[in-house]
Amino acid sequence: SSNALQTPSLPVPPVILLLDTAIPRHSWCIPFSVDGNPVPDIHWLFNGTALVEGPYIHTLIMEYEHNSTVLHGCLQLNRPTHVNNGNYTLVVENALGWASRTRNSSLEGPVETTDEHTFGVSVAVALAVFACLSLSVMLILLNKCGRRSKFGINPVLAQEDDLAMSLHFMNLGSSPLSSAESKLEGLKSNFIENPQYFCNACVHHVQRRDIVLKWELGEGAFGKVFLAECYNLLPEQEKMLVAVKALKEVTESARLDFQREAELLTVLQHEHIVKFYGVCTEGEPLIMVFEYMKHGDLNRFLRSHGPDPRGPLALGHMLHIATQIASGMVYLASLHFVHRDLATRNCLVGHDLVVKIGDFGMSRDIYSTDYYRVGGRTMLPIRWMPPESILYRKFTTESDIWSFGVVLWEIFTYGKQPWYQLSNTEAIECITQGRELERPRTCPSEVYAIMQSCWQREPQQRQPIKEIHSRLQALVKTPPVYLDILG
Ligand code: ADP
Repeated sequence: SSNALQTPSLPVPPVILLLDTAIPRHSWCIPFSVDGNPVPDIHWLFNGTALVEGPYIHTLIMEYEHNSTVLHGCLQLNRPTHVNNGNYTLVVENALGWASRTRNSSLEGPVETTDEHTFGVSVAVALAVFACLSLSVMLILLNKCGRRSKFGINPVLAQEDDLAMSLHFMNLGSSPLSSAESKLEGLKSNFIENPQYFCNACVHHVQRRDIVLKWELGEGAFGKVFLAECYNLLPEQEKMLVAVKALKEVTESARLDFQREAELLTVLQHEHIVKFYGVCTEGEPLIMVFEYMKHGDLNRFLRSHGPDPRGPLALGHMLHIATQIASGMVYLASLHFVHRDLATRNCLVGHDLVVKIGDFGMSRDIYSTDYYRVGGRTMLPIRWMPPESILYRKFTTESDIWSFGVVLWEIFTYGKQPWYQLSNTEAIECITQGRELERPRTCPSEVYAIMQSCWQREPQQRQPIKEIHSRLQALVKTPPVYLDILG
């Protein structure tokens, strides 16, 4: 598929896709695969100092992947002895940045560490840096350059130094930890990119005595979510059921974020965005009041309606769910609002299979394995992210379209985790190499074609969400008959 191909003209900061322990061939080989455009320069360190290549040790490029910027090679070691055992660090760099990874080549348990940075430096600076003789000095210089100038790749990187370490993740592994802080971090980024959606004094206030808590519905990163009765909310009803989110942490900055999220939620109003009624800020905890969606989040809903337990959802139901989320996304895109975290866990299901987009923050404790912690507090839903978000932290309406394709895949797999068979690092490798999620067993080819139109590598090639919505609407009206095998 065209997605598997990397457009050669697309600039790609260097990435190390693979670095293995030495294997005996004719001579010994430390295999590696790297990507980058322009083609990255390759250097090695042995036990931390520059490795001088010569007839006995040299880099050999074995293969250029067809129609892609990926190359595979070996560090060839001719008749090595025990003095060659140690840490081999591969350093790749081009004008956009550098990356490094270390492998211990002795046979007792390889250790791998990674350190990758992205930055934008002019070719002139890069050339000047290349001129440096000592690699270690060079690395320090590059690091400094990286911090100073990040222009040319993505303006967002320049704003968020912490976030800019977008390739810092390779050695972190999955971190099940999640905290309100990381969630706040996510929200802040969302606000930075969607600054126009704040209004002063537009948020509706509910009195505390009008809220009567019933029981807990769930726990989010911000705090607990309760079912409650709310009095005097709407003129036509004396009391009604609502879901209230109570903010557990009330630091000054959490209060500010709370206020901003409330302002944002007040502005976003659509039949497929969960209704936000207002806040209660008398004393503590701070509370947000939402419409109650009785079937909870869509991921849990899908899992409980999978093939085994209570009879599966039919194709028509799945298409209906997908169309509603697409409709909410058309609305967000029309406002130029970038969601950044579209996933079934962030959608809610009400009566009659009404589905709404229901969460504009980032992570959630019970789904923490869906996120990948980078550089300390930032958690990323990498399995839902397109290559440009993973590589450059670029989040746009088009990256939301990619995530929508993954949401479609989740729906047709009854809520499986994308790339569930892979670790975070492996998933990142697959996505950035252009591998696609497979067609779910129950998914008609017409629907899989929609997913694939969301997963075009070039953001501009992805089908606009409006057109995807129309395609889904058409399928809801005339579902592909032959596949209704399960229903
Ligand atoms: P947070 O955004 O703080 O992470 P969530 O919105 O994820 O919190 O809420 C946690 C859980 O509470 C969800 O998984 C869902 O089951 C439940 N929940 C949240 N909002 C509602 C709602 N409006 N109606 C019904 N259940 C809800």
